[in-house]
Amino acid sequence: MRALASENRPSSAAEREHERERREHDREQGRDAPIALELEGVTKRYAETTAVDDVSLAVREGEFFTLVGPSGCGKTTTLRLIAGFESPTTGTVRFGGEDVTGVPPEDRDVGVVFQNYALFPHMTVGENVAYGLNFADAPGGIPDERRVQELLELVDLGGMADREPDQLSGGQQQRVAIARALAPGPDVLLLDEPMSALDAQLRERLRLQVREIQRELGITTIYVTHDQEEALAISDRLAVMRAGRPEQVARPREIYRRPDTRFVAEFVGDNNVFAGTVTAIDETGARLEVGPETLTVAHEGDLAVGDEVVFCVRPEELRIDGDANAITATVVSAEFLGETTRVHLEWQGCERERKRKRELLVRTRDPLSGHVVVGFDPDDAHVVDVLE
Ligand code: ATP
Repeated sequence: MRALASENRPSSAAEREHERERREHDREQGRDAPIALELEGVTKRYAETTAVDDVSLAVREGEFFTLVGPSGCGKTTTLRLIAGFESPTTGTVRFGGEDVTGVPPEDRDVGVVFQNYALFPHMTVGENVAYGLNFADAPGGIPDERRVQELLELVDLGGMADREPDQLSGGQQQRVAIARALAPGPDVLLLDEPMSALDAQLRERLRLQVREIQRELGITTIYVTHDQEEALAISDRLAVMRAGRPEQVARPREIYRRPDTRFVAEFVGDNNVFAGTVTAIDETGARLEVGPETLTVAHEGDLAVGDEVVFCVRPEELRIDGDANAITATVVSAEFLGETTRVHLEWQGCERERKRKRELLVRTRDPLSGHVVVGFDPDDAHVVDVLE
């Protein structure tokens, strides 16, 4: 077995804190960490299905990287290719620049957590975590017992070593599974929908804890989820996948504010999508004919008269009675969400390809009813597709 890189990892809380500050400082300064793992032209086929289609991506050391996308888009298969549970049909997987394509999982220094906790029911919590040390020594040569204790404290379960798994909540069990995966000090932590069996409140709490643990250790982490909100909340960067490929790889804010494609714009968060034809261009932006309305969108000199354009405006950017880009619409329904209300409106602008009335989503504090006028700032429109 290869030497564990984690042997060099700082172990005291003060050292870890110092290391974390250094990394955050580096990130702020725009200094990128070295590449921890990389897929190059990786394809995985099962009979007629192409689960992963020519994927190339690189994850940096200490990064929290998420694969997100709808069911069947290839997230789990990508994770299994990184873990070594699957071999690519074509392409290369590298860890720290080294080709590991044919290397079995136990020799890759990865810790894996799946959605079903898979704890051993006949073992105590402490024994479950210690199981992670059956195939590798604890980092730094510390005794197993101390390592188990350290990890249980890390996942906020200090003092629970003697409990049986069935005496723990779902969230606690999943934290034991994380501690077990971390026990041998892996270089990379792989998490496949670890929270999907938990209720909404617990998911939110656990995702904060997972992020804390990851930051504390500075461990490179790949996280799989179909939950776009979770992906935005937890990640340094995310890959939004569709049909076996990442459609966009970027930081959460960029994915949300500047989606590259219509698919990303609609998959991540609520969005209003408009389609229209450019009829004029001037210094205020491009004027588009969208259904019965003429709307203006800002652009960076990349549109021309006659272009067919798809653009989107987030619900929180649609303002009631806004004077720019006024659209008359009718309230259909409203969902009270606590701090805001999500209002569903209908208007006449039909999309060319769909020929039906368009729905608009608005976020407001005040209740709305009947006919309303909504508007948006041309700068808040984001173009996702242009057909010249
Ligand atoms: P989900 O969110 O539903 O778990 P996913 O994005 O993780 O989906 P994968 O499990 O990676 O998707 O599957 C991608 C595609 O590959 C799917 O069409 C799936 O049916 C197919 N697939 C995955 N594993 C196998 C297998 N062992 N044999 C045949 N087809 C498979």
